[in-house]
Amino acid sequence: MGTKNKCVICSEKIEFHYKSMYEWKIEGSLCGKCYSKKLSDHYPGEHVRVNKHLD
Ligand SMILES: [Zn+2]
Repeated sequence: MGTKNKCVICSEKIEFHYKSMYEWKIEGSLCGKCYSKKLSDHYPGEHVRVNKHLD
């Protein structure tokens, strides 16, 4: 118990778990803050970015 309740990105205690998406290449749970940050990082604007290989 305990360690699994931490966000894999910021290590903050998670109140509500968000599952990372497969394409994010992250294992574990995210807190709401990091989850929404990841969302905007990976899917900026209104369209899903398809040119990931440019990163
Ligand atoms: Zn976090």
